[in-house]
Amino acid sequence: MVFGSLGKFIAGLARTREALTGAIQQVLGAGKVEEGALEDLEGGLLAADLGPSLTAEVIECVRRRSRREPIDADGLRKAVSDVLRESLGADSGASPGRGTRPWVVFVVGVNGGGKTTTVGKLAARERIEGRQVLVVAADTFRAAAVDQLERWAERAGAALLRQADGADPSSVVFDALRAARSRDVDTVLVDTAGRLHTKTNLMAELGKMARIAGREVEGAPHEVLLVLDATTGQNALTQAREFTRALAVTGIVLTKLDGTAKGGVALGIRKEMGVAIRYVGVGEGLDDLLEFDPDAFVTALLDGG
Ligand code: GDP
Ligand code: MG
Repeated sequence: MVFGSLGKFIAGLARTREALTGAIQQVLGAGKVEEGALEDLEGGLLAADLGPSLTAEVIECVRRRSRREPIDADGLRKAVSDVLRESLGADSGASPGRGTRPWVVFVVGVNGGGKTTTVGKLAARERIEGRQVLVVAADTFRAAAVDQLERWAERAGAALLRQADGADPSSVVFDALRAARSRDVDTVLVDTAGRLHTKTNLMAELGKMARIAGREVEGAPHEVLLVLDATTGQNALTQAREFTRALAVTGIVLTKLDGTAKGGVALGIRKEMGVAIRYVGVGEGLDDLLEFDPDAFVTALLDGG
């Protein structure tokens, strides 16, 4: 995590960490690891929103190890940490190669999850790395959404492409990719609409945008980042399922990890969806987007860094 503040990340996970370490303490307070204590641990893991299948795996691992030999505080912590680390695999924030120019990224997700904010933060990150960025207002449904994106683009030092309110998002994408090619843009970040009440239309619309993009730039969209609000806990998982059915989601951005006790949902999502977590949002500032680092995440969850 080279960008933004690791301290903020660790602080942001404080409430999730309390839920987890509280559960571990409770088990140890019981003296030895026995069934009743394991049930408490299970409750604690579910409260941290690890999800049922990962929770079951942790419990099974602790049970197995405690049968072999008595398990102490370190042993218990290690069992939890081993299962969590394994579930995250080799995820990292690193972009999966950028053979193509422009590199086209769609940012998708439900309303209020943090898409526009994430586009702004990603734009800032790209600019710092010296790339030319075009931010695209494909959420044409609400005028306020375009204005909000415009402010982010200004702050990040990125160019913005917008059309009249209510324009067809696919035509915005079409325009944007033509402009990106003629202006020699490195990275195109497309902010999309996330209204929930016309869900099927939204999915169809996203599919159309992706097809249009693919016609203009080979392989586009090269990345589809699904923005999920960590504070919604297991709901984020349900949303992830819907979006991955409709689109080839290449990575997840987990937002609002600051101040939620449900940070464990990152692990559950990773396990169930098989989609890597790329970034985490830890605040509303321009640099509050961190590359996801599984080891740092598990360490921060269990030890506070
Ligand atoms: P969109 O509807 O998906 O585009 O969501 P927005 O980007 O407009 O964000 C919705 C709200 O969430 C705004 O008030 C943002 O400031 C806030 N937000 C987004 N990301 C984060 C984050 O990582 N942490 C916190 N605390 N707030 C966030
Ligand atoms: Mg938005």
